[in-house]
Amino acid sequence: MLPDYAEYGQAIGLDWYAVDPNLRFLLDKTLPEEEDRLLAEEVVSEYGALVGSRIAPRAEVTDRHGPVLDRYDAWGGDVGRVVHHPGWLENKADLVRAGFAGGLEAKVGRPVPAVVTAATAYLVSQAETAAYCALGMTSGAADIVERYAPDQVRDGLLARLTSLDPEHSFEGGMFLTERQGGSDVGANTTRAMQDGSEWRLFGEKHFCSNVDADVFIVLARPDGAPAGSRGLATFIVPRHLDDASPNGFTVKRLKPKLGTVGVPTAEVSLEGSLAFLAGSVPPSDGTAPPLDAARDGKGINRMMEMVNASRFGVALMSLGIHRRSFLEAAIYAAHREQFGKRIDAYPLVRETLVDLLVDLEAGLALSFECAAATRSAPSADEGALLRRIAIPLAKIRSCRIGLESTIQALEVLGGNGYMNDWPLARQLRDAQCHTIWEGTENICAIDVRRAMRSSGAEQAVLARVDRALEAAAPAGRLLESASSAVRAAREQLVEAIAYIQSVPEDLALLQLRRFSYLMADTLEGALLCEEAAFELDRSGNARKAAIARRFTARRLDSRPLRGITDPDRTVLDHFEPIVRYGEIEPSALLSTAGRSV
Ligand SMILES: Cc1cc2nc3c(=O)[nH]c(=O)nc-3n(C[C@H](O)[C@H](O)[C@H](O)COP(=O)(O)OP(=O)(O)OC[C@H]3O[C@@H](n4cnc5c(N)ncnc54)[C@H](O)[C@@H]3O)c2cc1C
Repeated sequence: MLPDYAEYGQAIGLDWYAVDPNLRFLLDKTLPEEEDRLLAEEVVSEYGALVGSRIAPRAEVTDRHGPVLDRYDAWGGDVGRVVHHPGWLENKADLVRAGFAGGLEAKVGRPVPAVVTAATAYLVSQAETAAYCALGMTSGAADIVERYAPDQVRDGLLARLTSLDPEHSFEGGMFLTERQGGSDVGANTTRAMQDGSEWRLFGEKHFCSNVDADVFIVLARPDGAPAGSRGLATFIVPRHLDDASPNGFTVKRLKPKLGTVGVPTAEVSLEGSLAFLAGSVPPSDGTAPPLDAARDGKGINRMMEMVNASRFGVALMSLGIHRRSFLEAAIYAAHREQFGKRIDAYPLVRETLVDLLVDLEAGLALSFECAAATRSAPSADEGALLRRIAIPLAKIRSCRIGLESTIQALEVLGGNGYMNDWPLARQLRDAQCHTIWEGTENICAIDVRRAMRSSGAEQAVLARVDRALEAAAPAGRLLESASSAVRAAREQLVEAIAYIQSVPEDLALLQLRRFSYLMADTLEGALLCEEAAFELDRSGNARKAAIARRFTARRLDSRPLRGITDPDRTVLDHFEPIVRYGEIEPSALLSTAGRSV
């Protein structure tokens, strides 16, 4: 059954997997093994129903009733308790039971491919990225605990961080940022003092999301370590001590945020908090671990593993908001009439809706590639290299385009779009967070260059573009214009790489954002061509080819006269099958007159 936006009263209440055939397509393409695909179907369909019918309606309410800090108890004791609307707690409990906080493998009893967890994150983000923030950091913290926690705490913490029982489960958070040290974490001053085999932390953290979690991964500088980021170490800090007393934490205040209201973000003071060094192996005689475990210059890397995973998560958050924005706009446009017609009959509205989907499918192609790369690349090394550079690219591009798309979608709702009792005002407020947290766009663009400098990761991008173009070749004329736009962009990219590598530092830095956009767009265009060929081969449907052609014409080609004289009629002639995921005959697409497509 094709989605019919005129039939739906609203997005909330729908099964968000059932109304998203492109998500099914991505799972089909990236999970060639039948067993994996069956698992994906079971997991993702459960999330589609849960998110659309239970998580999403509560998220609307909790946005209006954000958390508050109850500073003192009735006796005047400083308890610093965060009080939530019950809906926030119910949402997290439902998601913990569904395995979203790192318990999915335990729930299904086998390893879960990364594209399946990506699909669940994409769905949850359509309801509320704040909930994903809280529980995504929980699985990130579990990962650090599993790999780096000392024996004495590892198993106990891990069991609770990955628990499927909301009554028993722990949540996680990460504290990097300080007032003076945001992008520049090397400026951090939180101090780590050794106390036998344990550590005590002293300092102030300035942005602490999910602050009422139970386990925090915290950056601090061990006494005697050098200045800068290499002198930092990563610590595991429980919120409470074994006797349930507070572990030297003061929540100073909750931040008055623009969006992502449900998750409490706070300023925190650490006053001698007990901490465990991530990466230390305590000697069996109970004495302190060797000093160099805290000062080996690698402490920051352990935290960056969590940050990189979170950056990928933020790309998925943005794509989730982008998808929700499209869905809300498509439903609204199918109901709203002006000048005697549904507004989705008007060419300009059609163009907005089509391009919302075109950009969404491009962003999803790149993010699902990040998830699939280590399994699908010719070698594990190439897959890892591609993932290394594709994650910051995906974060940069999905967050920027996600934000712009939310604005476009909001405007489809006219004045209602701007109102808080319609769904897109919140999505816009939330989307603005994603270009900033887990590394701003600029910092991620610098990271793209770091990946090139440290490991030549640009070669993995070029090789992936080539593989995609090769896969698209059998589609012949249907993908000719799209493939040649990708080939031309690849040539520009090679030139741009040489330029960035050869010019003075300030000039190279000046171009890094534009450069990252070019690299991301080229890769996305190539992946869409590959997807289009896959779809043509398996079903003869040219809908994906229409998407690839439109994306490459808009994002990779410089069209004369800004495209005004382009006679392409795709938006007008194929609106229905594009936005409703229907069939387009290849011959119909070929007969669409047009220069660029
Ligand atoms: C809602 C929210 C929740 C957050 N939660 C957490 C959390 O749980 N834990 C945590 O540790 N942090 C958290 N953060 C902090 C977040 O990670 C930082 O805000 C972010 O890393 C940017 O740091 P900053 O705010 O200090 O900005 P700054 O680093 O001061 O940057 C300001 C501007 O300067 C630019 N800039 C800085 N350096 C460069 C450079 N070298 N080249 C070019 N441009 C540059 C930036 O791109 C940005 O545009 C949260 C932030 C928000 C908004």
